[in-house]
Amino acid sequence: MNAALDLDRPAARLAEITPSSIRAIFDRANELERTGERVIHLEIGRPDFDTPDVAKQHAIQAIADGKVHYGPNSGLLELREALSRYLGRRHGLCYRPEDELLVTIGANEAVFLAMMAFCGPGDEVVVPVPAWSAYVACVRLAGATPVLLPLRAENGYQVDPDELASVITPRTRMVVWCTPHNPTGAVTDPERLARIGEVLHSTRALLLSDEIYGELVYAGRRHVSPASIGDLRHRTFVVGGFAKAYAMDGWRLGWLAGPPELIRPALRIRQFTTICPTTFAQLGAAAALEEADADREAMRQEFERRRSAALDLLTQQNLLSPGQPHGTFYLYLSYPEQLGPSDEIAWELLEEHRVAVVPGTAFGAASGKHALRISYACGIEDLREGLTRVITAMADRSGSRSG
Ligand code: PLP
Repeated sequence: MNAALDLDRPAARLAEITPSSIRAIFDRANELERTGERVIHLEIGRPDFDTPDVAKQHAIQAIADGKVHYGPNSGLLELREALSRYLGRRHGLCYRPEDELLVTIGANEAVFLAMMAFCGPGDEVVVPVPAWSAYVACVRLAGATPVLLPLRAENGYQVDPDELASVITPRTRMVVWCTPHNPTGAVTDPERLARIGEVLHSTRALLLSDEIYGELVYAGRRHVSPASIGDLRHRTFVVGGFAKAYAMDGWRLGWLAGPPELIRPALRIRQFTTICPTTFAQLGAAAALEEADADREAMRQEFERRRSAALDLLTQQNLLSPGQPHGTFYLYLSYPEQLGPSDEIAWELLEEHRVAVVPGTAFGAASGKHALRISYACGIEDLREGLTRVITAMADRSGSRSG
């Protein structure tokens, strides 16, 4: 029966889309917990806080008021207006609610729409790696070719403008940018962005700037959007979302900002796929942008406290080097090769030490073979205990391999 239906042969575009290893670790950790085991979660990419109350109240009121029907394809005007004000106030960006903003189903849909709208067979998309795995998956779904640009620890995981120039060809249609950066926590400074602008100046490459962690910066750093630098705005899609800064990951809302020439084609894909984001959720999100600055800042400060605690623990030993993380809620810990491959270590940490981390291989860079990503989106006591277990396990490996 199945043979006749050919069910073991889904569309060819899926051939190179591999399931996420983050999910595999997370699922196994949940399975262990169901059997009564306690697992410390340092793998999770979402805040451990609740959504600000003001967002919940507005969404609840919207349901009570019957705001339960389809809305405009580009998102409710109320939310686009709130977004326009927010981007100006927080990031010095200027986007018109009418035709330069699209409310998306999470930042992930924003990435997908931008790539589907502008990249196709024959096009190349430069993705600096390590990177959030959805970029490469979306490039492939769009039928384009990912070109991986390795980031190096000695550079603080920053893109080197000369190295970027060396991979740009007439086929390059898009360059992916992510600051603050998942998984390394690196934050790009304006001088580097200006140099990237010079590299792109005479090319047809668009810039996809994923700024979903833009509110999560520490140690006096400031997030700077590439779209606010030089003449980059006209070729840049700005991607953002509510998941990380507002603890609204389950609301599935984000945005895509750019000049009308970039937004219009993305909107055409939206019209025939997801139609519009959830109406009442958008009213909650608009309230978050207008009234939840204090909640957002309280969460950021708590992340900063945890980051300092984690860095204090890690700098006391020299097995795990955390790079220069000034943003996000991740640490990308590279370690000496002789300790073994990161997949093996991540599974050992989970099965034997009951601490879940993400192996660096999940982020598509060769460096990930000897790196782990730790998330500090968990309570500070769990973070200290989990990191101590990681450090002890690595020290044991180091001892047994050198002895
Ligand atoms: N961009 C980056 C860099 C991420 O790390 C994530 C989620 O982990 C997303 C986008 C997805 O965000 P959303 O939940 O809004 O789709």
